[in-house]
Amino acid sequence: MTKTVRAILGNYFTTPTYGELAYEEKALILVNEAGMIEEILLSEAVGYEEALATQRAAGHLVELKDQEYLLPGFIDTHIHAPQWPQAGIALDKPLDDWLHQHTFPLEAKYDDVAFARRVYTDLVDQLLTRGTTTALYFATIHKESSFELVKICADKGQRALVGKVVMDCPEGNPDFYRDVSTQQALEDTEAFIQEVRDYGRDVHQGVYPVVMPRFAPSCTAEALQGLGDLAKKYDCHVHTHCSEGQWQHDVTQERFGKSDTEALKDFGLFGPKSVMAHSNFISDEDAQIFMDHDTAVAHCPISNIYFANSVIPIRHLKELGVQVGLGSDISGGFSPSLYDNIRQAVMSSRQLEEGVDRDLAQSERGVDNSRISVLQAFHLATTGGGEALDLPIGQIAKDYTADFQVIDATDLPSFEVFTDPEHELQRILYLADKENIRQVYVQGCLVHEK
Ligand SMILES: [Zn+2]
Repeated sequence: MTKTVRAILGNYFTTPTYGELAYEEKALILVNEAGMIEEILLSEAVGYEEALATQRAAGHLVELKDQEYLLPGFIDTHIHAPQWPQAGIALDKPLDDWLHQHTFPLEAKYDDVAFARRVYTDLVDQLLTRGTTTALYFATIHKESSFELVKICADKGQRALVGKVVMDCPEGNPDFYRDVSTQQALEDTEAFIQEVRDYGRDVHQGVYPVVMPRFAPSCTAEALQGLGDLAKKYDCHVHTHCSEGQWQHDVTQERFGKSDTEALKDFGLFGPKSVMAHSNFISDEDAQIFMDHDTAVAHCPISNIYFANSVIPIRHLKELGVQVGLGSDISGGFSPSLYDNIRQAVMSSRQLEEGVDRDLAQSERGVDNSRISVLQAFHLATTGGGEALDLPIGQIAKDYTADFQVIDATDLPSFEVFTDPEHELQRILYLADKENIRQVYVQGCLVHEK
């Protein structure tokens, strides 16, 4: 990446606290060499004019126009990179058919590194053009092509957290797509962690290895324990699926005599750098375990419509105090855009509150107090993701990474009405698409320009 930003002048939106909007006009944001936000000078601040003049004279000030807005880069906390060619495919099938007839045969193809390179190159481009500056990726069981994904993200300037997937259980996994043995799966994971750590030392925006059992039902107890040990030994991120649908929830209960949450926690897989995808069926006791371990939920609202058998009560979990990020879950979810997922998070919460079966009395149809606002969903895609990953990302604030999307709102239908900042943000979150994303920066580097 050659083009970097050291100073940017413009209007920005950010949401440091769940449900609260911060909006500033003509703020001067100073970015240091490491790509961190060093200082934000508001227009009324002492020294603002002088600082502005200095930056202008130095010739490296990026100035936004009146109808342009800066948003934090989005953080996708659950995405299966190898499933990109499956986006939108076979979503009318039950989960078992979807996985066994489509997903597993597709993922098995990634023993071919050249194929992996083609798909991953396109996916990372597609995500950056949609404002996703950080992604927590499931790769496949193949160490080499998983590492290819790391390199592609590094080259294209996206911050990435990547795991070699572990699925070693002879039951439930097809012969053509599973780890050859538990020992090999653990050895490959450890080698992958070391290689990514080594390589990541020179990557400006950061790339991180992740300990990644596919989910409890696809792994032996020995593998789950081994992965928990590796997470501890290397102080590593952990990512897996937890209580996604009724089947996963029930099968773990039968196998271990405890909830998915308790089982994963007992194997050492819960911690501040752990993110559990979906988690639709976690109880309040499970939620307490999430909070006790600073572990986050990756909410995947589009995918959940297809495969999670329920709407997760995000508002309730946030009120309890659980950390929640947002995920596209390509390709259980068909859209690579977190804008689409922000919208679906709001819509699903409304359906949970109102209910969907018209034959029930209105008073029995829904779950009261379930709706979330688009501003709250925006928080999940930004600050919530940063909290989930335990990284200083997702906010436009001092000491956070300079990860921005420049939104050009000129062609959004304002007609000079509803022009206050909150309405302007609502309009962007509901109507903007990649055509409105003019530039994207990660850690101060320009990674996409329209
Ligand atoms: Zn998933």
